[in-house]
Amino acid sequence: MYPDGQPEQKAPLNEQDAALLNQSIKEKWKPMRDEGGENRGCLDCPLCGEYRKILGSKPCEDCPIRAYTGEIWCQATPCHDYGLHQESKHPDDNRGRLVLGCKECETLCQKEIEFLGEVREWVSSGRKEIK
Ligand SMILES: [Zn+2]
Repeated sequence: MYPDGQPEQKAPLNEQDAALLNQSIKEKWKPMRDEGGENRGCLDCPLCGEYRKILGSKPCEDCPIRAYTGEIWCQATPCHDYGLHQESKHPDDNRGRLVLGCKECETLCQKEIEFLGEVREWVSSGRKEIK
């Protein structure tokens, strides 16, 4: 079955997921918070890139955020609240962009960073405790 006598060695899923969560924090949400960058939703989310299957029957299957919250499409996350806030308070020409000086934008962005950190801790600890 294994020509070399060894099964293929794969990186543990938890390590990959922790890396993706770190990437989302570092490359997406922190720049948004600090520079008022754009939120491109799934398009610039490393986790969506890996796990979201829009056309499949099981969206977000295996995504650690889904596993942590029990909800698909990040519906139980600060990111979702951020999207709602953007839609209601900031006009379409500013869609998704964090508005520097808007307390709610900054608060929700910060909450998302903390939330992603929580999920990262959870996967790093072997997903032992579901809160
Ligand atoms: Zn705002």
